[in-house]
Parts: sequence; C-alpha cells; structure tokens
Amino acid sequence: MRHARLNQNILETDILVLGAGLAGLRAAIAAGSSAPGLRVTLASPQRRPSGSSFANRNNALGMQAPTPDQADAFTAEALRLAAPGLADPTLVRALAEDAPACLDFLLGLGLAFRREPSGSLRLFPGCFSSIPRAVVFDGLAQAHAALLAQARGLGVEVVHGFEALGLAQEEPGGHVSGALLCALRNSPKGRQTLNVRARCVVAALGGPAPLFARRICGPGGSGFSYGLLASAGARRVNTEFLQWFWVEAASLAFVNPGELIWPSPLAPLAAERLQHCPTAFGLPDAALDLALLSRQGPDGIVRAEHRERGALDLVLAAHAGNGGALIDAHGRTSVAGLYACGECASGMHGANRLGGGMVLSALAFGARAGRAAAEEASGIAFGARPDWCAAPGADARTGLLRWLRPGMQRFGLPGVVHSPARQGFMDRLRTLVAHAQTDRRERLLARSGLAVLEGSGQTGQP
Ligand SMILES: Cc1cc2nc3c(=O)[nH]c(=O)nc-3n(C[C@H](O)[C@H](O)[C@H](O)COP(=O)(O)OP(=O)(O)OC[C@H]3O[C@@H](n4cnc5c(N)ncnc54)[C@H](O)[C@@H]3O)c2cc1C
Repeated sequence: MRHARLNQNILETDILVLGAGLAGLRAAIAAGSSAPGLRVTLASPQRRPSGSSFANRNNALGMQAPTPDQADAFTAEALRLAAPGLADPTLVRALAEDAPACLDFLLGLGLAFRREPSGSLRLFPGCFSSIPRAVVFDGLAQAHAALLAQARGLGVEVVHGFEALGLAQEEPGGHVSGALLCALRNSPKGRQTLNVRARCVVAALGGPAPLFARRICGPGGSGFSYGLLASAGARRVNTEFLQWFWVEAASLAFVNPGELIWPSPLAPLAAERLQHCPTAFGLPDAALDLALLSRQGPDGIVRAEHRERGALDLVLAAHAGNGGALIDAHGRTSVAGLYACGECASGMHGANRLGGGMVLSALAFGARAGRAAAEEASGIAFGARPDWCAAPGADARTGLLRWLRPGMQRFGLPGVVHSPARQGFMDRLRTLVAHAQTDRRERLLARSGLAVLEGSGQTGQP
C-alpha cells in the first residue's frame, strides 16, 4: 500500500478528504486522477451509502445542468435568489462553467437518468425557477457504488468507521496538516483514534440538518461540519440559512404551504410559494411560512387545512444548509491547507438556492478542490508534527444531542425572535464551547449550533 501507516494510530497521506458524500468522493477522484503519484485518503464514518447524497429518502437527485448558452441566465437567476445571504458572482459563474463537465461525469458513471421517450435527458425546472434545465437520476446506492469504485480504481484509500473530531494545525489558524479521527464503535481496547498527517485536507462533511429534532436529511451525518471548520478558524457565511420543508408530523410526507387554504391577505402568495419546496428567505411568500410558524403548538405541530386533503398536522423539518466555509474558485477556505466543498461550503449559493444547485456545487467544487489540493500537495512539504494526538474525552455520542436537538428546533427556526430563553440556550452552548473539559464531539456540536443561531453576520456581496 502506498499509504504509510506509521503505527496503529498514525497514518501519513498527501491529501485527506473528510466525508464520502457526492462532494467528498468527487474531490477524492479529482485528486487521484490529477496527480496519480500522490496518496489520497478518504475518511468516512459509514461503510454503506449515507448522508444526503446517497441515502436521501427520494432515492433520486436532481442537478442544474445549464448549457453554455444558458450560463448567463443561470448565473443571474442564482444571484437574484442570494439576498439576504452572500453569494460571490465568480463562484456562481464557476457553477455554470463546470455544469457540462459535471453532467458528463455523471453520465460516464452510467447512472439511471430520467429520459424522454426519444432517449434524450428529461429536463425539469428546479425549485425557485421556471426554466427546465435540471436533470434527475434515480438509484443512489448505485451512484455511491459507481463513485466509490472509481475512487478505489484510482488508488484512493478509503478508511471507513472513523469520523473527524479535530483538524491538525501547528498553531491556531495556521496551516491545516491533518485530522484526528475517532472510531465510531468501541473495540475491545476502547475507542480507536487515528492521527492522520496530510499535506492538505478537503472538508466534505455535509450540512447542519442533523442538529435538529425534526429533520429529513439523509442518515449518517454528524451535523458538526460548521463547528469543525470554525475550530480551524475558517471564515463562514450563510450559516443561518437552512432549507426547511413542511412535512406531515406522522409520516414526514412533504406538504407545500401553497396547497393550503389561506385567508385573503395571504392567499395571493400561494401560487408563488408552489414554485419551491423549501422555505425562502427575503421573498414575499416567506410570509406564508412565518404565518404557519406563528401557529406552532408547544410540540411544534401546526394544524393546517389542505385544499384537497382537509386538516393536516404539520411540522417544519431541516433539509439542508446553504451556508458553510466561504471558499474561492479553487475550493480553498480562508485557512491554508484547508479546502471545503459540498454542503459545508458556501459562497456559490446565498440565502436561497436553485433546486439542483447543491448537486452541481458538490460536483463542481468537489472536482476543483480535489485538483487544487493535489496541485498544492505536490509542492509542499509536511509541516512539523502538530499537537493533536491527545485522545478525545469520554464518549458523548448521544447525550448532548438529546438536549441540543429540541433546543435547535425551538430556537433555530426561521423568524424565531430573540428571547431570554433563546439567550439562555445560546449561553449554555457558549459555555460548552469554552469549557476545557467538554468532550470534543460535544464542543463541535455546540459550536455548530451556535453557527446556525448566531449566523455568520455576513450579508450582501463579498
Ligand atoms: C431528501 C433530500 C433530497 C435532496 N435532493 C436534492 C436534489 O435533488 N438536488 C440537489 O442539488 N440537492 C438535493 N438535496 C441536497 C443534497 O442532496 C445535499 O446537500 C448534498 O448531497 C450534500 O452532499 P455532501 O457530499 O456535501 O454531503 P453528504 O452527502 O451529506 O455527505 C457528507 C459525508 O460526510 C460524512 N461526515 C459527516 N461528519 C463527518 C466527520 N466528522 N468526519 C468524517 N466524515 C463525516 C458523512 O458520513 C457523509 O459521508 C437533497 C437533500 C435531501 C435531504
């Protein structure tokens, strides 16, 4: 094996990719194919398909696929949706530029795309858009297997069963040179840790939806990507802008508020609301979602009247985040040696994003980050050994989440006003972050919760 395992607990590689969703696998493939001599290691908590890319309940994904002559219209539409969040026009344009290559990449994997009777790809309008330029493929386990096989064929070493609990830096805010991985399961000798030394690290850790009590993200996410990126000092944007879906409380079946019966001042907004599944920020039809939220009972349930199905009990469920580490056109974060892509990276979407835009950004910036990391890793030496070898504290895998998730659900929904109770919850999170005795995982979860509740404080253009 080309990857050097220096002993049972230390592994040396050139590029470490954290997370095996669409973004992480795309980054690993790009790194492996652009510099075949380099060692690429992909760390993933789950062996089976997981996360929102490969285990989402639709068993399908749509991707915006603008053709070169649609690039200007795509860019203008995506930027129009960005306020009150921040989107960098350079990154949005990069999505449009890379879309044909991303589509070719997926077609090359032989995925089951939906097609017209003529055999051509069927095009759909994504959420927030009336222009049919998104393609859809079914069969996420097949997609996962195809990407994993391609990565392995390029020599990428896949380390399953470990999650990253810290990024290695020689000094706070300094070059990222590895990560502390911790096994998800106990072995007879306790919980195994793996210190990975790398020339650079690509974070593809997914989004914050697992932090919430009500959620429809794919299973297997940690929810603490924002905390991990924050701990390294990466600049973050749009962390307060999650996508929320209204679902039936019992079945979690999706219900669009535009299908509900509304009194006259709000009724005219229903048609506009039908154009997108997630809640919106800054658009007039957000008034419907805020009206529903104001009617929440103590259990978070809203009784609503559907036009055809009568009375329904609805709850608001976290779907995906639009925020993350602000990256540049090469997937670089503000911290040297640290790249980010997929749902933990931002700047290519603002507060709202086009339906199918995340798959495009996971592939486009996954590929860009993987290539740039390979280029950087070819030219830099390993740094001095950083100080990250301390074992994590006691296992807190479920303890904090039992308290955190209901709190996030109560205080982290759109339109929640500031209150002493919200302040108290945030103060408790700050204490967990500051306290030296806090378990690493708890600290990351608390930090991620704060990133959502406090927001990034960045609005408008960069
Ligand atoms: C039901 C549903 C339908 C969707 N449909 C669409 C769609 O049609 N089009 C679209 O554009 N978007 C869609 N999205 C959003 C999109 O699927 C996700 O945002 C995108 O797939 C995220 O990809 P990712 O690789 O960044 O994250 P994920 O696919 O979530 O992968 C994250 C990976 O990181 C791993 N991980 C987490 N924490 C750690 C850690 N500490 N250390 C190591 N690894 C870690 C996870 O186990 C996982 O392997 C949908 C989302 C949902 C929930």
